[in-house]
Amino acid sequence: VVNATHLTLIVAFDAQRGIGIRNTLPWHLPEDLAHFKRVTSGHPIIMGRKTFDSIGRPLPNRRNIVITRNPAWRHDGVEAAASLLDALALIGGQRGFIIGGAQVFAESMDIADQMIVTEIGHTFECDTFFAPLVPGQWRESARESHHSKANGFDYSFVTYDKAN
Ligand code: NDP
Repeated sequence: VVNATHLTLIVAFDAQRGIGIRNTLPWHLPEDLAHFKRVTSGHPIIMGRKTFDSIGRPLPNRRNIVITRNPAWRHDGVEAAASLLDALALIGGQRGFIIGGAQVFAESMDIADQMIVTEIGHTFECDTFFAPLVPGQWRESARESHHSKANGFDYSFVTYDKAN
C-alpha cells in the first residue's frame, strides 16, 4: 500500500466541472496559471501523457513525472512512469501534486489527501470533466474568492482536505 498522505490534486474546473476541450484548457485565466505556479513550484508534479502533450514541455523548477503505458515514451527533462503507483514510488514520501488530466485525477482521488481547486463561476464548452466529488469524502478547509478583471467571471481557490 502506498503512503497516501502526501498527495495533492490541483485542478481548475468550471461550473459544470469541465476541465478541458480538445486537449487544451477551455479558458484563459492568467491568475489561475500564476496560482498553479506558486503552489506547485519546488514540488514534484505528476501528469497524464495527454496533459503533458497539451503543455508541450516540462515545467521549470519542478520534477516532472509523466504517466504513460507506452514503455518507449521519453522526453528531455521528464521522468516517465508506467502507472500512478510507479510515479508515487519515484517521489517517495515527499508531497507530490497530481496536475491532471481527467483520467489521472479519477485514479488518484481515493489516495490523495488534499485537493486545491480553482472553482470558476462560468460554464465553458468542454469535452473533459472532473468526476463528481463523493459526498462526505472531502471537507472544505479554505476558500479565497476573486473576480477576474480580464475575463469578468468569478473564481475561487478552494482547499479540500480528505475527511477522516
Ligand atoms: P490525461 O492527461 O489524464 O492523460 C491520459 C493518459 O495518461 C493516458 O492516455 C495514458 O497515456 C496515461 N495514463 C492514464 N492512466 C494511466 C495508468 N494508470 N497507467 C499508465 N498510464 C496512464 O488525459 P485526459 O484526456 O483525461 O485529460 C486531458 C485534458 O484535461 C486536456 O483537455 C487538458 O487540457 C485538461 N486538463 C485540465 C486541467 C485543469 O485543471 N483544468 C489540468 C490538466 C489537464 P498513454 O496513452 O501514453 O498510455
